[in-house]
Formats: sequence, C-alpha cells, structure tokens
Amino acid sequence: MRFKIDHDLHIHSYLSTCCSKPEQNPENIMAHAKKSGFHKICLTDHFWDSDVPGAPKWYAEQDYAHICEAKPLPQDENVEFLFGCETELNSDFELALTLEHFDNFDFVIIPTTHMHMKNVVVKKEDFESVEKRSQLWVDRFDAVLNMPLPFHKVGIAHLTCEYLGFPSYENFITALQMIPDSEMERLFTKVAELGAGIELNGDCMLQAIEMPDILLRPYRIAKQCGCKFYFGSDAHSNENLVKFFDAMEKVIDLLGLEETDKFEFARMDI
Ligand SMILES: [Zn+2]
Ligand SMILES: [Zn+2]
Repeated sequence: MRFKIDHDLHIHSYLSTCCSKPEQNPENIMAHAKKSGFHKICLTDHFWDSDVPGAPKWYAEQDYAHICEAKPLPQDENVEFLFGCETELNSDFELALTLEHFDNFDFVIIPTTHMHMKNVVVKKEDFESVEKRSQLWVDRFDAVLNMPLPFHKVGIAHLTCEYLGFPSYENFITALQMIPDSEMERLFTKVAELGAGIELNGDCMLQAIEMPDILLRPYRIAKQCGCKFYFGSDAHSNENLVKFFDAMEKVIDLLGLEETDKFEFARMDI
C-alpha cells in the first residue's frame, strides 16, 4: 500500500520564539489535523534543556516550563496529539537534552543541520567553509547515532535543510553534493539498525521536487538501507500545515514509498 500522509510529527506552536502567529495554538493545530484526516500529530517546539549548559539567551528561554504551557494538549477520538520537542545539537556535538529527560517527551526531534547558528551549532572558524559544512553534515549525524538514545522515539529532522549551506542556496547544493554515497550508506545503515525515523520535512520536500536528483539522493539511499520515514510539516503557522501536501505526494511517488516504509512510531496501530 502506498505511503499515506496521515500524521505530522514536526509542528511548532506560538511557544517557539521563531513562530510569530498567536493562532498557531494546540486547538487550531488539532482542528487542522481533524480536517486532514490525520491520526497522529506531535507538538515539537524548540527546546534547550536547562540542565545542559551553553544555551544562548533566546534558546534558554524555551525551557521545559515554557513549552509545557501548551499542555494539556487537546485530544480527539480519531487524532492522538503527542507532546514532543525539537532539541538541538551544539557545536561540540552535545545534545541539548539530557538522556534522563527523554522521558518527559513522547517523541524527540533532533536537528543536525541548523548550521545558520554561528557558534551555537557551527564554530566560528568553520562557519565560512563549504567543505567543512559538508563534513559537519556527516560528523554531526554520526555523533547523534553514537549516542545511547531511545531511537524508537527519535526523528532525524530536515537532513536536506537549506541551512546546511548558509548563507547561500548554492553553498547548500554544493555541500550536499560533496557528501559521497558511501558515507550516506554508512550513516543510513546505522539509522536502520537503531530504528530512528528519517523526516520528510515540508520545506525540504518543496525544494526537493525542483531538484530531485540532488535533493532526494539522501532519502533514496536511506530507503535502500532500510530506513523508515515520517512526515513533518515543520509548520510555524496554520497555512504551512497544508502547503506541503502536493510536494509530499510527488516525493512519495519519486521515492516509491509504501506504508511498509513508514516509521513505526507514526503508524496507526502504535
Ligand atoms: Zn529545525
Ligand atoms: Zn522545527
């Protein structure tokens, strides 16, 4: 059976400081999910655990008490609304969420590609180099996979995110092309063994259908290696909750995704 978009595991609310829309609240997100026929959605506001030092001020403000303001999340007989977070991986490859605190979340999104954040994510001396960014894509991903995490509830976010080549789109394409298939195969084989989910991110998929040979390559390799996928709109507003559907449908065709390729956590029966 063809892969169905019946879930969205990466959604921000107004509690993320990068989201400026007060109407992006749990009630409206739930209303959208019902309309779209989703069975499972997850709130994943940005989060930096206060037990992990080094957060810049704006990140530190998005602590546990802050993101918990969204709770209790509305529930519906057809839609399960889970509480998760999008944490961070700092420039020393340390996760901004302690292992003990994974229990506070149903699902945790780990972004390795927020490379627009100088010092926080990419060291100052590496910031200008496309070669270094390309290597960081590999090394940061690898670092996460070497952690003792509960991978069955971990999603690897937006791997083909434009931030990889910040500040230019050209850098992004070049940095991605510099990563050999063999490195991707090594990483995605690990992902498949560990059981983490690979995100099909809304913005990434919109870009990918314009340049599928380059931008879908990691996902093609991931699929060959046995990785499982989930959809994450990464929506910061209500409009963005729906604008990715057409692109996602094309990507499902281009990758030939079936229901059996779906991340177990995103499945109806879990
Ligand atoms: Zn992100
Ligand atoms: Zn996000």
